[in-house]
Amino acid sequence: MYIVDGHCDTLLALQKKSETLRKNSLQISLERIKQTNSEYLQFYAVFVSPSIKGLEAISQYKNMVNILQNECKENNIPRILTKNDLDFKGHGALLSVEGLYFLDGKQITLDDLYADGVRCLSMTWNGSNIYARGVLGNMHRGITKKGKELVRKAEKLGIVLDVSHLDDESFYDLSDMATKPFVATHSNARAICKNSRNLTDEMLVTLKKHKGVTGINMYGRFLKEQGETSIVDIIRHIEHICMVASVDTVGFGTDFDGIPREHSAIDSPYELIDVLEQLAILNYTQEQINKIAGGNFLRVLTSVLK
Ligand SMILES: [Zn+2]
Repeated sequence: MYIVDGHCDTLLALQKKSETLRKNSLQISLERIKQTNSEYLQFYAVFVSPSIKGLEAISQYKNMVNILQNECKENNIPRILTKNDLDFKGHGALLSVEGLYFLDGKQITLDDLYADGVRCLSMTWNGSNIYARGVLGNMHRGITKKGKELVRKAEKLGIVLDVSHLDDESFYDLSDMATKPFVATHSNARAICKNSRNLTDEMLVTLKKHKGVTGINMYGRFLKEQGETSIVDIIRHIEHICMVASVDTVGFGTDFDGIPREHSAIDSPYELIDVLEQLAILNYTQEQINKIAGGNFLRVLTSVLK
């Protein structure tokens, strides 16, 4: 079975802690991924804090790109760069970028990111930037002219666009102009848990129309407004998205290593297998389970990557 996880912050955690991917103290390691006994595609996000500016921000981005490159080389991990690479065995790694605060278009361009292997990007993080407004941004202006140019260029290059951190207005600006499927790599259903990082039913329907997918985020605060969370809460979001949109619209985007661990509904890749087993108990067919496990994300990658 193919499992796809649309988002983790493991590169940032590895950088901070100077640990290796093979074996570490984090939620994601090669050892833990191996326990799933599945073909496992992980989106590895580069996140550079908006508080870091200029050349220092670019150098942090490059540092995380190098971490992934070196880990892939050392551990023989296939990089996902074209649709032909989706046929990988074992563990595949896809480089993504969350927030493009460092992308000034002069000292570093979208072409540079593509050359580095970036195949998925979210234009902004929670705040606003020159491209779009994030969920906590302070300027009501959706996607800017520069942002629209970026969307066109990304689609042309074969980079998947990620709406997870965009505010609602920017989400609809993107859906108005998108010519390829787009994704929310790590967002849940707002009808189940009211949080601006989650998608409304109307947004889920829009995502479905665009043949996109949203990855279920394991952060407790995005699953339930209060209290402890568990697999039950994950299933509740999956069922809701299947009901208002479709079984083709939901996947996983764990946010592992980017969320407070004590508030993570599950703790590691192999617990995704428990989620899938629970779906089988609820009479989801194997075909539906395969879609949720990774088939839906693979469908989007197949249609967007070169
Ligand atoms: Zn995020």
